[in-house]
Amino acid sequence: MDWLLTPGPVRLHPKALEALARPQLHHRTEPARALFLRARTLLKAAFRTEGEVLLLTGSGTLAMEALVRGLFAPGERVLVPVYGKFSERFWEIAEAAGLSVDRLDYPYGRVPRPEDVAKGGYRGLLLVHSETSTGALVDLPALAQAFKAENPEGLVGADMVTSLLVKEVALEAFGVDAAASGSQKGLMCPPGLGFVALSPRALEALRPAGYYLDLTRELRAQGEGESAWTPAINLVGAVAAVLEEVLPRLEEHLALKAWQNDLLYRVGEELGLRAVPEVRSPAVAAFYLPEGVPYGRVKEAFARRGAVIAGGQGPLKGRIFRLSLMGHYTRYEALGVAALFREALAD
Ligand code: PLP
Repeated sequence: MDWLLTPGPVRLHPKALEALARPQLHHRTEPARALFLRARTLLKAAFRTEGEVLLLTGSGTLAMEALVRGLFAPGERVLVPVYGKFSERFWEIAEAAGLSVDRLDYPYGRVPRPEDVAKGGYRGLLLVHSETSTGALVDLPALAQAFKAENPEGLVGADMVTSLLVKEVALEAFGVDAAASGSQKGLMCPPGLGFVALSPRALEALRPAGYYLDLTRELRAQGEGESAWTPAINLVGAVAAVLEEVLPRLEEHLALKAWQNDLLYRVGEELGLRAVPEVRSPAVAAFYLPEGVPYGRVKEAFARRGAVIAGGQGPLKGRIFRLSLMGHYTRYEALGVAALFREALAD
């Protein structure tokens, strides 16, 4: 398949492929420690934090759970707006961690407003920046500010799984205390690494929780360039290689991602398709299926042209399809995908 148009995993960056072709390193050796520290420094720059970034071997969901359990003790009150599959996952994780959770529900595709979270009496607020299941983007700085005005001691945790390297992020400047992400989305690497970014405030609040999930233990080990357990060191090399390439020209990269996603929406509009999100994330374009057309037919039309797309999740299953150019695509390749999109929908 030539065209991986799913919102993760995505088409790999050539620098990731090159890094993965290197010989295996042992993780408790000097070259591996140097690589690990380099990746952490680059990730701190990517999240724009003066705090720390921890690398965990696992997927983005592991990073979300480690964040929740590392910041909040059982019984503490947290507010969780639910506006898609991944914000629902944050709610499930908070429930599983024994927190006292208040859930705010939105129809999939809509986003929470600052006034919705301006409620006192909470220790935390959990938000998904780019809700991949609906293609919606939330205004993190405005939401964090409204929440903290009522909860000055409160902590804001954000899922930045499909916004890191796709849309501007800045931990402290956004009023976000901790964020979770992963290797297989905007970083254009294979799945297998989760990241937890912690602001200086979050580092003060950090508590031991669980065993593999214990971020206090990871913090001690990773300060030395090691991780508590065997890390996916080959992926650490891929992540460092991509960040070294992309970070020096981040603005240009984010502009390309925005242009590419807008292109998909422009084609969708031309074809008379209705967009799902009220506010669009540049990570993915989500469209309702044309009246009477089953998802399988659209999926097959793309597959005949060598492209893999994504369907809906949760209540949107069977009602929408999603296309993403979050992976490594040039401007010209994106134009090719736009042509393929027009053809597939004409079948
Ligand atoms: N959060 C968001 C916004 C996502 O898009 C995803 C994956 O699609 C996840 C969390 C879960 O990540 P993973 O599948 O790596 O556990």
